[in-house]
Amino acid sequence: MAKKPGRKKKTKKQKLAAECDQLWKDIVKFRDKYTCQKCHKHPLLGANCHASHVIPKSRSRSLAFAPLNGKTLCFHCHINWWHKHPVEAGPWYRKTFAERWQWLEVQERIPVTITELWYSDHIKYLRWYFLLLRRSL
Ligand SMILES: [Zn+2]
Repeated sequence: MAKKPGRKKKTKKQKLAAECDQLWKDIVKFRDKYTCQKCHKHPLLGANCHASHVIPKSRSRSLAFAPLNGKTLCFHCHINWWHKHPVEAGPWYRKTFAERWQWLEVQERIPVTITELWYSDHIKYLRWYFLLLRRSL
């Protein structure tokens, strides 16, 4: 395969992170039945279906790949509402998903070091989680 100019080869850790991220997105969308959790639009197809973080990736690397830290939103609700109206969106989430929020608040305070091993273990966990989720529906 020809090397693309300007594109660096991904490290093993970056590849694992990308795999985690893809699994996380697939799980969140599947769990929410491809339905926007804000406006209830359904089904969300292709680029209109976003898996959105509750606690941003930049604030917690381990929660970045936790299914409970994700919610499905349509493009509009994600970009024009969730990210632009945090004063309204935050309380909406905490009210709509009170139990998840309780869990997230606790998890966020637990320090986690993300290593290659963490990623490999988490990928296994997410695969099992996804398999069980598909079986239970
Ligand atoms: Zn929506």
